[in-house]
Amino acid sequence: MSKLGNETAKAELGRATWKLLHTMTLRYPEHPTQDERDALNSYLHLTSRLYPCGECAAEFQELLTKFPPQTGSRLAASLWLCSVHNEVNERLGKPVFDCAHLDATYDCGCGDDPLTSTMRSPVPG
Ligand code: FAD
Repeated sequence: MSKLGNETAKAELGRATWKLLHTMTLRYPEHPTQDERDALNSYLHLTSRLYPCGECAAEFQELLTKFPPQTGSRLAASLWLCSVHNEVNERLGKPVFDCAHLDATYDCGCGDDPLTSTMRSPVPG
């Protein structure tokens, strides 16, 4: 793939990943259980290890060490992710996003069904 093609693919992967992560934190429980907190924390750390773009993965791992995930509530998790994304934006010379606009930007069309029921019970073996 050409350098331009690589950059385009990396950017598409980045946009898709940020969309998933922001939508996830905005659907995260307002009052998570310890199990839900552990699940989000693990998800973020595993993503940082397995993310397919190597330089992005390394940067994400550094950010997780410097700014440990805030999993205590939906608001805390969403604002934490917004500020981590802004750290990446600044490094890449992109505009800083106003975190007050998160709710309006990320609507998954998932209705009001509670996320907790799907988060709580892992499918047995
Ligand atoms: P993106 O940054 O992908 O953002 C998509 C949309 O999200 C924006 O259009 C805006 O509407 C919204 N948005 C922007 N900022 C925020 C925010 N703070 N909170 C909520 N919403 C926001 N690329 C590299 O070249 N080098 C890297 O090291 C690198 N590291 C990355 C690390 C991670 C964990 C991820 C997920 C991606 C990384 N990327 C990296 C990709 C990069 O961040 C962008 O996704 C990519 O460059 C496309 O940028 P974009 O301008 O389309 O907007």
